[in-house]
Amino acid sequence: MRRGNLFIVSGPSGAGKGTLVALLLSAVPDAWLSVSATTRAPRPGEVEGESYYFLDRDDFMAMAEAGELLEWAEYSGNCYGTPLASVKRAMGEGKQVILEIEVQGAFQVREKIPEAKLIFIEPPSLEELERRLRNRGTEDEETIRQRLQAARVELSSKEEYDIQLVNDNLSEALAQLTAYINGQAEETRG
Ligand code: ADP
Ligand code: 5GP
Repeated sequence: MRRGNLFIVSGPSGAGKGTLVALLLSAVPDAWLSVSATTRAPRPGEVEGESYYFLDRDDFMAMAEAGELLEWAEYSGNCYGTPLASVKRAMGEGKQVILEIEVQGAFQVREKIPEAKLIFIEPPSLEELERRLRNRGTEDEETIRQRLQAARVELSSKEEYDIQLVNDNLSEALAQLTAYINGQAEETRG
């Protein structure tokens, strides 16, 4: 069994984080994805407890105030946070724990857990990012505009991450992500 490690995957909305992480979970048998809490409304097809724990703002803030979140942040007008207990449990079970979270949360985790590895997923260009967001068809025009604006800010933090991966060709990006996680996990093998 490998020792548990913590990996954070960030990058602009539409860069392909969700797609890559879903493939990663099949490629790396001991990888485990944390399910976040959010005040955002579910998108069609999203499942409570699998995609997110969907909470109202009062319940979300109660969790934050009770110290039950490893980190939390506001993004595009909604709150998102990582439940602490399940991450601790998975780390203790020797899992390669994946948090798919935005940059403010990533830096909060690094403060608390300096050995966490921060992975930034970049789109090949802002034009391609916009195309992917539109093609995904899950956001309205105003939300797409907000997310593209947020993307510029997020991209300006990428150098602070341990590794940057450009998601141009999906299978190449997946191979790089898998190799990085397996490489780190082997280094910490007990
Ligand atoms: P994120 O989780 O970063 O917001 P998604 O995984 O939802 O992004 O991907 C955004 C859209 O781009 C989806 O429609 C997805 O199918 C598509 N996509 C992901 N990776 C690639 C890629 N390498 N090339 C082309 N399209 C991609
Ligand atoms: P979406 O609304 O597209 O699901 O997510 C919007 C942003 O919130 C994405 O950048 C995603 O990575 C981030 N996010 C999801 N869960 C969390 C979380 O628990 N904490 C933080 N800080 N960000 C999160």
